[in-house]
Amino acid sequence: MALVSDLITIEEARRRVLEAVTRVGDEPVSLDAALGRVLAEEVASTLDVPPFDSSAMDGFAVVAGPAAELDVIGEARAGRPFSGVLAAGQAVRISTGAVVPEGADAAVPVERTTAVKGGGSGDDVALDRNISGEVRQERVSVPESRAGANIRRAGEDIPVGAVVLQRGTTLGPAELGVAASVGRAALRCARQPRVAVLVTGDELTEPGAALARGGIYSSNAFALAAQVERAGGELVARATVPDDPQSTREQVGAALEDADVVIVSGGVSVGPHDHVKPALRELGVEERFWGVRLRPGKPTWFGTRGGTLAFGLPGNPVSAMVTFQLFVRPALAALQGAPPHTPRTSAQLAEAIERNPEREQAIRVRLLQSGSNGDLEATPTTGAQGSHVLTSMVGADGLALIAPGEGEAAAGERVEVELL
Ligand code: AMP
Ligand code: MG
Repeated sequence: MALVSDLITIEEARRRVLEAVTRVGDEPVSLDAALGRVLAEEVASTLDVPPFDSSAMDGFAVVAGPAAELDVIGEARAGRPFSGVLAAGQAVRISTGAVVPEGADAAVPVERTTAVKGGGSGDDVALDRNISGEVRQERVSVPESRAGANIRRAGEDIPVGAVVLQRGTTLGPAELGVAASVGRAALRCARQPRVAVLVTGDELTEPGAALARGGIYSSNAFALAAQVERAGGELVARATVPDDPQSTREQVGAALEDADVVIVSGGVSVGPHDHVKPALRELGVEERFWGVRLRPGKPTWFGTRGGTLAFGLPGNPVSAMVTFQLFVRPALAALQGAPPHTPRTSAQLAEAIERNPEREQAIRVRLLQSGSNGDLEATPTTGAQGSHVLTSMVGADGLALIAPGEGEAAAGERVEVELL
């Protein structure tokens, strides 16, 4: 892969990934378990929401008309409708969310009314009951009201038959609330893609264990697993593979049997101890690309075996996370039928960044609203942005994409930022 001319662009690499994706199936998921899942059906409401005309205020249901003194003939509470019929000259005390009684066509907020009998402000107007439970007649003085005032019409939020959620939507709190409001206890969602994360390297040590000389802690195992989870994947394996050809073949082979997506980090380059590519080829995984015109993340490999996707990501921790974001995350979204790409925005560089002559750079940045015109400004998270400087990912809002070329991208220049 030494030849830069053999490398493909980020866009071309993404295109090849998405071209290889076939959707996973779907399954019913209870609302309790559906946060973050991707909807596999169109949800239409079988009812009006609200289901009935209801009061938007605590106050009195009345027949709309001029200011008047009215007899209070009963009460309508949320979930406890008033069963009678209201006529002119009458009012029913009503709570927010209660059914508007038959005959009434307006609600008057309690703070605009005055109790006629027994002194007291509108706030204490109530149906006084004496000890024997008999209702004492109350009267209330109400101002002029218009028909429909303070009434929420049935179906005002969602009319029966309306489509409230589209296929491919990632379910967040609002979507789950809307699904519940139309009475759905479960939704058909895309099955979560099964993902295996294999990290390779004799130097890798589990956090918590003592480091031998030459050892490092395996950060990729955790960062990549968390990225998988964020992207809606189900982590079915996370294993460390030693740098020998046989173990690599065995463990990658087992992962390919079990998972929809196999992610291998490290061991993908051309060193004598890099066994991942030969293993993938021997296992019948067909290469779709090798090498991207990207920094960090050049040594990225992608192939398929049937519907199974296999990614060989660089071992350097930043490269692994960046290439996951740019290539694996879109695949996981597309497998579930969601829009593949996270949104991009544009921002002004807070400082100059030296261009790479050959490769597009993904600079980890924080985004802040600033500058005279309130533009978004992109500030590199850390001074050093090497592919081993994992702290550059901490607090990063996005990846600023710097086109290849000579010289530098100047401070103030507008660049595209892929949001993380
Ligand atoms: P490789 O791609 O295997 O040549 O690895 C490139 C660099 O990334 C080396 O410095 C590795 O030690 C490092 N590296 C590989 N895998 C991991 C990992 N799981 N966690 C942290 N660093 C890693
Ligand atoms: Mg290695």
